[in-house]
Amino acid sequence: MGEALTSLLLGLDRTEIAALVSEAGEPNYRAKQLMDAVYGQRLETLEEIFTLPQEFREWLAHRGMTVGAAQIEKKFVSVDGTVRYLIRFADGQTVETVWMPEGDGGEAGDGSEAGDEAEGSSLTSSGAKAQVQSSEPIAALKRLATQNQNQDQTHTQKLQDARRKPDRSTICISSQVGCAVDCQFCLTALLGVKRNLTAGEIIGQVCAVLKDQRVSPPEDRVNLVFMGMGEPFLNYDNFMKAARLLVEAVGIAERRMTVSTAGIVPRIRDFGDENIRPKLAISLNASNDALRTRLMPLNKKWNLEMLMAAAREFPLRTREWITFEYVLLGGVNDEPENAREAAELLRGLRCKVNLIALNPGPGIDFSTPAADRVETFQKILRVAGIPAFVRRPRGRDIYAACGQLKRTVEIPSSPVPQLHHIRHLS
Ligand code: SAH
Repeated sequence: MGEALTSLLLGLDRTEIAALVSEAGEPNYRAKQLMDAVYGQRLETLEEIFTLPQEFREWLAHRGMTVGAAQIEKKFVSVDGTVRYLIRFADGQTVETVWMPEGDGGEAGDGSEAGDEAEGSSLTSSGAKAQVQSSEPIAALKRLATQNQNQDQTHTQKLQDARRKPDRSTICISSQVGCAVDCQFCLTALLGVKRNLTAGEIIGQVCAVLKDQRVSPPEDRVNLVFMGMGEPFLNYDNFMKAARLLVEAVGIAERRMTVSTAGIVPRIRDFGDENIRPKLAISLNASNDALRTRLMPLNKKWNLEMLMAAAREFPLRTREWITFEYVLLGGVNDEPENAREAAELLRGLRCKVNLIALNPGPGIDFSTPAADRVETFQKILRVAGIPAFVRRPRGRDIYAACGQLKRTVEIPSSPVPQLHHIRHLS
């Protein structure tokens, strides 16, 4: 298996490709052609690489080299335009990768993108709209359904615009098959960790989705979030190699990428030392150690004091901030007191908070807080001077939202209660 993996072109960097070219006795410029074929044009077989002479392609084939493109095994499309891909690698293992046609998953769509401030205010107002009068549930449902229809029309328009010139689309990438971190509210945790992805498999997800969606950076603006299955900082070297290649060979700018960690403190420090690196997001999810240890057992090893120290010492670039994610669990970590504690933890940090109301799933024993609880939490942070945004759930109906990636091949017939479903789309 090890040998098979080393014979894939996808995942090799400039130096490794150059070594291959020189081993073949080919001129140096072939390295650039090969890099461009694999990462730029995203060709999937040696036969397609017409820029290379037949001889060299045969040499590569004899040496056991293949491109190693990731295969899209299944594709689920949400009513909101989100697409969840089930992607298969050479050894048959699969992960999920999510395409969000008009942003979010982390950075875009929550007011954080430079020049995109307008989006933030529209999100706030749609958050306000999400309130349901529970005293008259049926009328409320009808009202929401109508709102939803109207929104669907604007949404369709937006989707068409996005297709014409996609500029805020986001791909959410997995870094491991499963996850070892065991966060109590996350579906991926139920899988345990099967293995790390190679750099080629991490990039392979991006290439497969770009190809399927017919978009091509840098002309088309694409954001990447390393927020899919797995903990990127427990697969640090492969993740970093992939990130560098995505910048250098695929053409996606560093500032368009964000990696999220559950809080692997030593790797946060290593990450700060990298020359080329995505932006940093940290899954905070609780406002004190007792609560965080209960929700995220890794807090025993790296507690809030260690985590916040690493965050405070993290070398931020100009106009950069750290994003903290906070999953709100009804009655567990969503009290006003939790918001005040969180504000205290974050005081003075150049940061923002993304609030995520729990995305439900089978086997997850927590509930989604009501919209007014989310709003109150957000308000307390904002009053304390901390920019806080409510992340819109994407693709909940197809199990593509945060914490819902579990290599689900079938969509359960009634995945999410209708009320939730409508409420969160509105
Ligand atoms: N392992 C990394 C990368 C995954 S990012 C990390 O933990 O940061 C996925 C994000 O979704 C995390 O911020 C996580 O806290 C959040 N999340 C997990 N389960 C969720 C759920 N059921 N509902 C909403 N958000 C969830």
